[in-house]
Amino acid sequence: MTDSIHIDGSRGEGGGQIIRSSLALSMVTGRPVVIDNIRAGREKPGLARQHLTAVNASAEISGAAVTGAAVGSRALTFAPGEVRSGEYWFSIGTAGSATLVLQTVLPALLLADMPSTLILEGGTHNPWAPPIDFLREAYLPLVNRMGPHVAVELDRCGFFPAGGGRFRVQIQPARSLAGFDLCERGEIVARRARILLSNLPEHIARRELETIRDRLGWVKDECRIELVASAGPGNAVLLAVESEHVAEVFSSIGKQGVKAERVAQIAAKEVREYLDSGVPIGPHLADQLLLPLGISAWQKPEPQSANQTRRRGGSFRTNPLTAHSTTHIDLLRQFLGITIDVEDSPDGKSCLVRVGLPNS
Ligand code: AMP
Repeated sequence: MTDSIHIDGSRGEGGGQIIRSSLALSMVTGRPVVIDNIRAGREKPGLARQHLTAVNASAEISGAAVTGAAVGSRALTFAPGEVRSGEYWFSIGTAGSATLVLQTVLPALLLADMPSTLILEGGTHNPWAPPIDFLREAYLPLVNRMGPHVAVELDRCGFFPAGGGRFRVQIQPARSLAGFDLCERGEIVARRARILLSNLPEHIARRELETIRDRLGWVKDECRIELVASAGPGNAVLLAVESEHVAEVFSSIGKQGVKAERVAQIAAKEVREYLDSGVPIGPHLADQLLLPLGISAWQKPEPQSANQTRRRGGSFRTNPLTAHSTTHIDLLRQFLGITIDVEDSPDGKSCLVRVGLPNS
């Protein structure tokens, strides 16, 4: 049996991402993983419900032998078997983020031999997690650019604390992930502000739109309010910027006690910073893209024709790296043995991330 890899869950950012990405990498490489110090520095250390669902979902798709799979557990061992494509249903049982559970099992299913269909239930619009709209409009188009085809259909929104969101995912796998370079954004071709509102007074959404129009100068046709069905109250501000080469989505989730204007200002500020910096990839998309690009760089080049091999790994320009990104880079280097270098721009406002050596 392949040697296990040991991951210290407390290093760097020390959150759920190390666990989720370790599971994803373990399934893709077939290498067992031992993770300790899970979320050691967090207020409630150990596995939360959302992480546990990711562990159980990973075990189900890969027939893994697991120890330590319990809420509050600070150590986990995970030894995957063969990844099986198929039909799966994963329910968090709380309002925890279902999109993060999807991101855990996705890499393995992208490389499986047959298509898969998933139903995920839980939160779809959570603070500190990618909203389903970000996945659909920003993250998955880039994953699809690498060869597979993933489509998501939202049945119902889920907000904290009621949860109850649901979406369906169709995954058409590819044998390997092609790399890409994304260093330029190109011209902006479309901007869209969408305010989601469920079981709350409509003036909240109107005030948020006014703030967006005031802060960003977006016009009426670019802004809309969507009254959505959900198990409880909920509100999300979703700002999409579509450019020639990439699309980005910035968001802010409404919270009791936080003024509507403030909720909108948070998302508007992220858009402002993105537009001013000129980079194609924003901070959240950057940390999430590292995983599929890292896997692409790790895979062996596959001959396309007699004298050509497919591009592996790739590069992108983004804002100065967040703790999530630097932690992810460390993990990918350790797990996959790949090269990732980061070159800061002279003005310190952006950086170029290269995943894998140009001819590796
Ligand atoms: P963790 O805090 O370790 O559980 O990881 C959270 C993940 O959610 C990271 O990949 C973040 O980039 C991502 N994330 C947090 N907030 C957003 C957001 N507003 N839009 C997109 N992704 C997000």
